[in-house]
Amino acid sequence: MPASSLSPRKAVIREITERDVRTPPGSSGNGTSPRISEFFGINTFGVRQMRDKLPRDTYAKLLDAVRHGKKLDVDVAPRVAQAIKEWAIGRGATHFTHWFQPQTGLTAEKHDAFLSFDDGQPMEAFGASQLIQSEPDASSFPSGGLRATWEARGYTAWNPASPVFIAEWAGVKTLCIPSVFVGYNGEALDEMTPLLRSSDALSTRAIELLELLGDRSAYRVYTTLGPEQEYFLIDRAHFALRPDLVMAGRTLIGAPPPRGQQLEDHYFGGIPERIQACIAEVEYELYRLGVPIITRHNEVAPSQFEMAPRFEETDVAVDHNQLVMATLRRVALRHGLQAVLHEKPFAGINGSGKHCNWSMSIAADNPELDGQNLLKPGQTPHQNIRFLAFLAAVLHAVHKHAGLLRAGIGTSGNEHRLGANEAPPAIISVFMGTTLTRVIESIASGKTAASAEQEMIKLGVARLPEIEKDNTDRNRTSPFAFTGNKFEFRAVGSSQSIAFPIVLLNAAVAEAIGEITVALKAELKKTKKVDDAVLKVVRPIFKNTSPVRFEGNNYSDGWVKEAAKRGLLNLRRTPEALAQLVTKQSRTLLTSLSILSDTELESRYHVRLERYIKDMLIELHTMRELVDTFVLPAAFDYSGRLTDSAAQAKVAGIKSIPQIDAANGVGALITDLQKHRKALGAVIDKAEGMHDDLVKQAQLLTSAGADAMESVRGCCDALEQAVSDECWPLPKYREMLFPV
Ligand code: ADP
Ligand code: MG
Repeated sequence: MPASSLSPRKAVIREITERDVRTPPGSSGNGTSPRISEFFGINTFGVRQMRDKLPRDTYAKLLDAVRHGKKLDVDVAPRVAQAIKEWAIGRGATHFTHWFQPQTGLTAEKHDAFLSFDDGQPMEAFGASQLIQSEPDASSFPSGGLRATWEARGYTAWNPASPVFIAEWAGVKTLCIPSVFVGYNGEALDEMTPLLRSSDALSTRAIELLELLGDRSAYRVYTTLGPEQEYFLIDRAHFALRPDLVMAGRTLIGAPPPRGQQLEDHYFGGIPERIQACIAEVEYELYRLGVPIITRHNEVAPSQFEMAPRFEETDVAVDHNQLVMATLRRVALRHGLQAVLHEKPFAGINGSGKHCNWSMSIAADNPELDGQNLLKPGQTPHQNIRFLAFLAAVLHAVHKHAGLLRAGIGTSGNEHRLGANEAPPAIISVFMGTTLTRVIESIASGKTAASAEQEMIKLGVARLPEIEKDNTDRNRTSPFAFTGNKFEFRAVGSSQSIAFPIVLLNAAVAEAIGEITVALKAELKKTKKVDDAVLKVVRPIFKNTSPVRFEGNNYSDGWVKEAAKRGLLNLRRTPEALAQLVTKQSRTLLTSLSILSDTELESRYHVRLERYIKDMLIELHTMRELVDTFVLPAAFDYSGRLTDSAAQAKVAGIKSIPQIDAANGVGALITDLQKHRKALGAVIDKAEGMHDDLVKQAQLLTSAGADAMESVRGCCDALEQAVSDECWPLPKYREMLFPV
């Protein structure tokens, strides 16, 4: 059949089955491909490369800024700018941009040419001021009312800790300068500024505690982050035929296919060749940008995959995760694919998360201390006492600020994922594993030996380091799990910027470390030995935080009931989760640590609530359009065919005419759909009339709005299963998820 006479859906299937696999660059196909190490980081200019290009004292100052999180000295900036310019132009870059993260979840850039004129002569120029500062129009980014449009002044400033890089798209090379974005009064307008502030807050408090513990040469404690990115790759041609995927990033309707993920054959299965080619090209681009992607594999759902980097310092990891998401989206198109990063693109099968592996490490002048992971059990009783102190801080933080941590992951997308069959529920709890649970409970019970040293020996210090290696002791259902030498925050959504959840985690832990330090100072007046004093301080913490520890199956209904008994929050809907941002306790936390001022926090709450409302309204409108212009016309078409066929049968004198029953059946479904479609329209009108009260609007959308969508979906999915396949205009789950 010529392609032109096929329905769009069938034409797409033909195109897909006939498409060739694109060979990714960097793989020659004859086994002589360059090694990754030969091109890794070729498009970045980090501190290490600068060492070769800069005078020694300039380099030392730059390093100081990077290492200590300090601002760059104005007198070194010109030389640094010069070195960066030469490198970038040498690599073919024509433009530069400050690359920053406004509160859209994405990154922003505005390109300027290196072009300048000297006496009418064109030349390449790039000065210190351009490196250090730039002024985008701040009014067009979400600010949650922080800046009225008439005072829309804000600027971006280079964050020297994150290496500059050259983005190379369609052969166009642009120098990108990772930056923060702040208003003229210093108010944070982006995701990165509070992250850097939270790192500083944690660092200061951790150093103070370390000094008390006797570890004195630390000059910084930094948090480390390894985000595992889950995503779907589907055919772009299918995607293009689905207005819901294009507009909302997820399918709003779609009947479940007979085969979903029940065969459990996709997880860690072989990666199809087309997909492999695409992923390899994504990795190739990321390696050039210095993003250390280490693992790739199939995820549980059909057409779902994951890539994870080696962990890095948190702010760099956040930048790199943005690059991962952007690169996935762009490179997929070259392969005729679409990367779908939404948390729940397909109902009834697994959604996508972004497990954030998080820990704290020491930067110290003493090489023995430098690089030590504070959440890694050590070899000596002292190291393990230190480990227990920082562990207690995390437990205390998560217990006290569980609601706030839930707020940080509260988005319209994650709402569909949390608590669905395959993702942790909206209840934040911590998993510790058998060995540590035993240690914690034994300390908490207070039946202890005379000294910390004896106690550690009794508890089996020698076994603590083994925790790290114990892979069997895993609980994949926990939203926040200890995995031997780090915590894994699993409730984070796949499409969101991970900056904010980590800001809140850093903040909560910083506060807890501070509280432990205060308690320890007091205890040291009574107890001589530090280690003994630490044990006395962590004991009540281990005891009081026991409600937040849960070792069982977080997906079970039993846990939901148990958690309620324990008094843990279960914030299922986004608006109630976001409200946790502005509780008295959250305000005190963030303002006292100078991470966000009261107004900055208020504005963030508004940006997030507003975003939720917009997402919901986009979904509602898209759904209405789908019903009116796709589903109903298809149903009418099919019912018309049945009617025609029935009429013909009658004319032919056929006695049994089952087409009449079938047409009546479809008719009943249509009537039902029209009823719910009307209710959906009413919710839209009502919600749009309430825009002066964001909280009420969000509440309406999350209740009546979500209910209306669910009812409409039910009718549409029933129709999809009743209407002739030929009449159905939208690619089905089966086609999108199981490409042939
Ligand atoms: P797992 O077996 O728990 O999945 P992996 O070693 O495979 O552990 O790590 C998963 C992710 O956790 C990777 O991105 C890895 O870099 C990251 N990770 C490992 N150690 C740390 C750490 N100390 N801090 C932050 N992330 C870490
Ligand atoms: Mg995973």
